[in-house]
Amino acid sequence: MESNLVKPLNILIVEDDMGDTKLLHRLLHQSALPISDVKCVERLDMALGFLGKGDFDVVFLDLGLPDSRGIDSVSAVNAKAPDVPIIVLSGLDDAEMGVTAVQKGVEDYLVKGQVDSDLLARAVRYAIERRQVRKILDRKQKHLEAIFDAIPIGMLLVDENLIVRRVNDTIRQMVHKDYLEIINLRIGNALRCINSTHDKKGCGHSPACQLCPMVKAIESAFKSQQPIRKVEFRPMLKANGEEITPWLSLCVVPTEIYGQKHVVVAIDDITARKETEKKLKETTEMKSQFISTVSHELRTPLTSIKEGVAIVLDGVAGEINEKQKHFLDLASRNISRLAALINDVLDFQKLDAGKMKLNLQENDVRQVAEEIYETMILPAKNKGLELSLELDENLPKVTFDRDRIIQVLTNLVSNAIKFTPQAGQVRLSFQKQNDELVIRVSDTGMGIPKEELPKIFERFYRVQWPGKEIKGTGLGLAIVKKIAILHGGRIEVESKLDHGSTFSVFLPLIDGHP
Ligand code: ATP
Ligand code: MG
Repeated sequence: MESNLVKPLNILIVEDDMGDTKLLHRLLHQSALPISDVKCVERLDMALGFLGKGDFDVVFLDLGLPDSRGIDSVSAVNAKAPDVPIIVLSGLDDAEMGVTAVQKGVEDYLVKGQVDSDLLARAVRYAIERRQVRKILDRKQKHLEAIFDAIPIGMLLVDENLIVRRVNDTIRQMVHKDYLEIINLRIGNALRCINSTHDKKGCGHSPACQLCPMVKAIESAFKSQQPIRKVEFRPMLKANGEEITPWLSLCVVPTEIYGQKHVVVAIDDITARKETEKKLKETTEMKSQFISTVSHELRTPLTSIKEGVAIVLDGVAGEINEKQKHFLDLASRNISRLAALINDVLDFQKLDAGKMKLNLQENDVRQVAEEIYETMILPAKNKGLELSLELDENLPKVTFDRDRIIQVLTNLVSNAIKFTPQAGQVRLSFQKQNDELVIRVSDTGMGIPKEELPKIFERFYRVQWPGKEIKGTGLGLAIVKKIAILHGGRIEVESKLDHGSTFSVFLPLIDGHP
C-alpha cells in the first residue's frame, strides 16, 4: 500500500481557525508525505465547491465550521466526494464527536494540539489505505448483491430466528408476492408453506415444521457453520390461492452480515426434472419389461424349432438328401445365431437393469482356461488360425461366477477369431499380477482404429468396414464390460490397425478372492 503514496497528494484543509490551518500546513510539509498541493478553506460551502471540481486524496475536516457543525459536515463531504477519505480535526472538547464521526465512516480523527508530523503522515497513509480497502469491499458487496438479485435460482437471506431479511426476484415470482410482503416473515410463511401458515407461531415451531427438511437444513447450517447442499424436498405451498407441491432443491450457506449470523438459502424448483426422471424411469422399466417378455416368448418356440431341425438333420425322421441337408444346416446355424442373440439381449438387459446376480464360487483357473481353449480350438482351426494358451504356474484359486467368466472369454476369443484373417494367431493367457488375475486375449487381426477404441464397449456399437461384411450385433463387448465391472474388475484394450488387438480383463484377488 505504501506505493500508493508515491503519487504526490492533493490535500484539502477545511478549518476556520487560521492558526490551526497554518500549523497543519507546516506539519504536512515537514512530514515524509509526498505533497503536490494543499488547499485551505474556512467554510463547508467552499469546501464542497472545491470537492466538486478537484481531485483530492484526503480532506482534513474541522467539525466546528461557521456554516456547519458536527456530523452534518461529514455527511455533506461524503455525499460530494464519496471516494475521498476524511480525517476529522477535533478540539479537545469535542473529541467524543470525533469518535462518533469515525463510526460514521470517517477514516480517523486527530485532536488539535496533539499532532506531530509523523503522526500526521501515518494518519494520512492509513486513511487512504482504509478508504481504498473499503471501496474494494463495497464493490465486492455490490457484485454479490447483484448476483443474489439476478440469479435465476430463488435466494433468501435468513437470520437465526428463521426470519427472511432479503429475497431476490426469483423467489418473488415463485411465491407471487411483492418484496415487502415477504421481508421480515419467517421463511415458511414467506414461501407460503401450508404447514407454517396454519400454525400461528409459524415456521420452525409447529410439529410438522420440526420435521421439515428445509428447517432442519437451516438449523444445522447455523449450528455447524458449514454449507448444507442439495436437500431435496416437497413442501405443500399455497400459490395464487392454489395448493401446489413442487419439488425443491435447497442449498444453505452460512454467512455473516454486520457481525450477525445469517444463512443464504438457495432454492431451485426441480419439479420438471423430477417428473422427467419419473417418466424416464417408467419408460425404461416398460422397455425392459417388453424386451424380456418378447425375448422369453421367442426363446421357447425357438428351442422346439432347433430340436425339430436337429432331428430331421440327424435322419431320425427319415433319409434326407444332400440338398435338403445343406438347407437344414444353414437353418440350424441361423437358429443358433438367433438363440445367441436372444440370450445376449436378455443378459445385457439384466446387467443394465442391475438385476444380474452372480453365482460366486472358488474356481480352478487352469480348468476354466482349458475348457475355453477346447471349445474355441475348433472354430479357430476352421478359420485357419492358430490358438494358443499360456498359463502362469501356481495360479491361485479365484472366486468368480464361472458361467459369466466363460461367457466373457468366449466373447473375446470369438471376436479375436472373427476379426483375424486366415493364418493369423490368437493367444489366450492367464497371469497373476499384483492383486489381480489378468486374462489377455490377443490376436494378429485387423485391429481397431484409435478413435473407435472408447466406443466399442457401447451397446450395438460396431466398427464399420466398408466392403467387408462381418456378422455381429455389437452386444458382446457391452456384456463383457458389465460382467467385469460386476466382479469388481475392469477391461482394457490396446490395438494397432492391421497388426492386432489385445483385450485384458482384470479381476481383483483379495487374499486370492475378488
Ligand atoms: P456380437 O459380439 O454382439 O455378436 P460384435 O462382435 O460385432 O457383435 P462386440 O463384440 O461388442 O460386437 O464388439 C464390438 C466391435 O468392436 C466389433 O464390431 C468390432 O468392430 C470391434 N472389435 C471387437 N473385438 C475386436 C477384435 N479382436 N479385433 C478387431 N475389432 C474388434
Ligand atoms: Mg463380439
